[in-house]
Amino acid sequence: ATPALAAALLRLRVAVDAPQHSGIAAPLDYLSERPLAPGTLLQVPLGKRELLAIVWDPAQEGDQGQVLPAEQLRQVGPALDALPPLNEAWRRLLEFAAGYYQRSIGELALSVLPPQLRELDGKQLQGRLKKLAKLRTEADASAIEASAVPELSVAQAEALQRIDTLMQTDAAPPPLLLYGVTGSGKTEVYLRAAEHALAQGRQVLVLVPEINLTPQLEARFAERFAGRHIVSLHSGLTPAQRLRHWLAAHLGEADLVLGTRLAVFASMPRLGLIAVDEEHDPSYKQQDGARYSARDLAVYRARLERVPVILGSATPSLESWQHANAGRYQRLALPARIGGGAMPRVRLFDMNSLPRNKGVTTAISAPLLHALRQRVERGEQSLVFLNRRGYAPVLHCGECNWKSDCPNCSAWRVFHKEDRTLRCHHCGVAERVPRACPSCGNLDIAPLGRGTERLEEQLAEMLQGVLRPDGGPARVARIDADSTKLKGSLESQLGAVHAGEVDVLVGTQMVTKGHDFRRITLVAAVNPDAALFSSDFRAPERLFSLLMQAAGRAGRDAAQAAQSEMWVQTWHPQHALYQALLAHDFERFAASQLAERESAGLPPFAHLALLRAEARTPEVAEAFLKAAAEAAAGLSTAAQLLVYPPVPMSMARVANVERMQMLLESASRPALQALLRAWLPELQQLKREHRGLLRWAIDVDPLAI
Ligand code: ADP
Ligand code: ZN
Ligand code: ZN
Repeated sequence: ATPALAAALLRLRVAVDAPQHSGIAAPLDYLSERPLAPGTLLQVPLGKRELLAIVWDPAQEGDQGQVLPAEQLRQVGPALDALPPLNEAWRRLLEFAAGYYQRSIGELALSVLPPQLRELDGKQLQGRLKKLAKLRTEADASAIEASAVPELSVAQAEALQRIDTLMQTDAAPPPLLLYGVTGSGKTEVYLRAAEHALAQGRQVLVLVPEINLTPQLEARFAERFAGRHIVSLHSGLTPAQRLRHWLAAHLGEADLVLGTRLAVFASMPRLGLIAVDEEHDPSYKQQDGARYSARDLAVYRARLERVPVILGSATPSLESWQHANAGRYQRLALPARIGGGAMPRVRLFDMNSLPRNKGVTTAISAPLLHALRQRVERGEQSLVFLNRRGYAPVLHCGECNWKSDCPNCSAWRVFHKEDRTLRCHHCGVAERVPRACPSCGNLDIAPLGRGTERLEEQLAEMLQGVLRPDGGPARVARIDADSTKLKGSLESQLGAVHAGEVDVLVGTQMVTKGHDFRRITLVAAVNPDAALFSSDFRAPERLFSLLMQAAGRAGRDAAQAAQSEMWVQTWHPQHALYQALLAHDFERFAASQLAERESAGLPPFAHLALLRAEARTPEVAEAFLKAAAEAAAGLSTAAQLLVYPPVPMSMARVANVERMQMLLESASRPALQALLRAWLPELQQLKREHRGLLRWAIDVDPLAI
């Protein structure tokens, strides 16, 4: 702008979509002819492009960044002011998230808005809004059908009472940890609490870990809240649906927003309650870009907006459990399954007791096979799970010891028998299975180990001749990422299980989550031991919750609960984890894990961040990390911090990229945050100096180290 023009214009701060690496962490100054409220969407020029951006709040005293003279500033483009501004609470949430996870505000804020917003000009937006207004005449809030609403159990009523009290208070309520096994009535508590929030004219946000679980929950909410406007927000929506649902939430028209982790950023002007179902689930943590935890942000958002947040789980994360132990969260326990159904009996089958024939172990022990056969003959269903898809994890030549490694990754290519391919699950490279060993020409190359495809095949063989009560043969089916690639196939396969068209279902952990299979009376984990000895410190926690969740699939009908069983085939039946599982004793398990974590200085007793670096050679990645460590040591904030030496990631090479990481640990979260903040500009500088470095990223509160 010329000096004369610049003097006549207003200065606005605008959050632009510039990546963290560009060094633009804070909003930028622009000039505008007219005042625009913070939270207004608008177009601005950046470099040679016009981008969607958000008017941000005026700079506060103490904000970093230099103030440019007005004549160096550019003028904003048109504003989308048909849309109400994103409110203050939303902006504070985004500001916090960007700061905490070390991203630029604009980058994060724009990335959580529906992508279609970027493509609309003011006129098109008005068209969309008009269309929405027409749709609105679909529905007015009708009364809830009394017959559909069960009478609460004593524990549920107590929990609801507590939530009600917190909804009335003005202060920020403490987070609530709703702790109860599958079938104990947690969802019913969310429904009731939501009903109360809606009655007060507020909006409700419900988060679920998996897209696949949204339709189920949506159906349950829709049934209960006929006449209420319910929208879903997840990455499976079309861009048009996502925009429509987001707008409905933003305009305050949607009463209920149900979604996966990205929904934690939904703009909701009347927010009155947040529920996070299966709060322990790792999918709440975003694994690329801004690596945020939606669960943690939900807690922050609830405090910011002074509304209750309910974290529900049968096996809470050790972080949340420890918060409850320390009194920072309120624990609400639902101690029993509704209807009195017992949890299935856990049977640990000791694999050491099997006769060993030539080192070959059977996937399914004789007693488990017997139990499966009984279920088929009684017309009951079984679920057998194995966390490894494909036919076999690796193909092997007994002559020369060749194995089907991936040329691009430090991983095996998995043998898929269905389409006779060797496929890498990390970089996607696939080729037809060779007829003979590529190394020595031996024709006799064999699969090693077992994936779901092979398990399905073996089970079908083993159950041959076993008949159902109606005389039909046993039907074995499989559900995993391979069987459900086509859109709609998961639904139809789940539908077949629900309709009783499957007797034995084989699957990965995909089938252990959430699905309400009524007729399953046996759940079996055939080979879960690996997690006991994993280098990932959270592996036992995840295994325990997976097994508890899987157990929860069995015997959901009280009538069947008595004969329901959870089988675990293990070489280590005496392991403390399995012993706690035997007693369905999460609390014992949690106590022992927390003790281990405390003595090892791991979360929740220490705070972690990872700096990751990717390059074509490990040397380049390592050199960058070492320089970064030196830079950290030179910062005044480094005092309360431990910086570990760089190491290759557990998957060191993916798609020909070498991956290294360096762990930072501190007993103090603020100290860690302060260091990261001061470190970031140094890292940007270092990146420019380290030729050949492809990428670096910071992961705050990483799930695995
Ligand atoms: P969770 O979310 O803990 O798995 P749900 O809320 O889904 O538990 O409850 C399990 C089953 O019991 C559901 O079919 C639900 O409709 C039913 N249910 C929940 N609460 C009650 C209640 N108080 N009385 C009768 N049935 C209930
Ligand atoms: Zn060979
Ligand atoms: Zn690969």
